[in-house]
Amino acid sequence: MERVHPSLADLLERAHVVALPLNTRFRGVTEREAVLFAGTEAWSEFSPFLEYAPAEASAWLAAAIEYGFDASLERLDSGTVEVNATVPAVTADAVPQVLARYDGCRVAKVKVAERGQMLADDLARLEAVRDALPTARLRIDANAGWSVPEAVTALRAMTAAGFEFEYVEQPVASVTELAEVRRAVPGVRIAADESVRKAADPLAVARAGAADHVIVKAQPLGGVRRAAEVVAASGLSATVSSALDTSVGIVMGAQLAARLPQPRYAAGLATVSLFAADVVREPRVAVQGQVSLAPAVPDAALLREFAASDACQNWWFERIRACFEHLSTLGAAYSPE
Ligand SMILES: [Mg+2]
Repeated sequence: MERVHPSLADLLERAHVVALPLNTRFRGVTEREAVLFAGTEAWSEFSPFLEYAPAEASAWLAAAIEYGFDASLERLDSGTVEVNATVPAVTADAVPQVLARYDGCRVAKVKVAERGQMLADDLARLEAVRDALPTARLRIDANAGWSVPEAVTALRAMTAAGFEFEYVEQPVASVTELAEVRRAVPGVRIAADESVRKAADPLAVARAGAADHVIVKAQPLGGVRRAAEVVAASGLSATVSSALDTSVGIVMGAQLAARLPQPRYAAGLATVSLFAADVVREPRVAVQGQVSLAPAVPDAALLREFAASDACQNWWFERIRACFEHLSTLGAAYSPE
């Protein structure tokens, strides 16, 4: 496949490393580090989680290169995609105030199976969501928090209580267990999220009969085009989500969501509200349940204000080098200069 290839020097020259404060602790950190490239075609984002080795993180770099530099990639300049509200594992009485943060969302994802809580807590939270948004479509996300018997018990109880879900996200940890749960509760659609980290994973999930649906992110799957191809090859429906991206990465995700076939599932891209600051003046939060596809252009003053320390910047530059070299081993198009 034809690929674009800015030189490593060009990439580094166009890179802005930022550390943005979060409202909530995420993966043990209170700041999200990200690299934003002033690409020739668009701004793009490179923000693999800190612990990922180059082999894995290089897919994220390929995504940033494609979005920033590939003139043949179709990017929609206008329009919106639908996004979902997310309700963390809060007590039922806190649900209305969580939902108030999401303007006009008609789909709510509710976290369940939180450690230290009971099935009754999940049911109460779901009731509170149904009370607040009686017409909303619901999905739940267990983040692999259940065993197979726990998942089956919980899903039967929820069904008995009248809840219908678009899908149930990662009820259990492994692909084998997902397949077991899926067989045990026919009629409940199962989605794989944590089981999808690399481009090969959606196909493996489909082959194992482990899920009806996959959660995908543009960066880890190697870019907008590749992620759309992977979803199509899996034969499963998909929801696009964020890896806690800045507004620049959110637009990359929104472009992927806009490419997926109908019926589209509201994307998990309303995550910018978890940031206390962003790189654009008008962060891509949900407006009337939608996120805009328009280009996200960082503000120079914000890039300066939230610029990472020199040590942090050097670490990211080394990481870009390592990932770039890894990509160069995969195809001549990425030959480092
Ligand atoms: Mg999930």
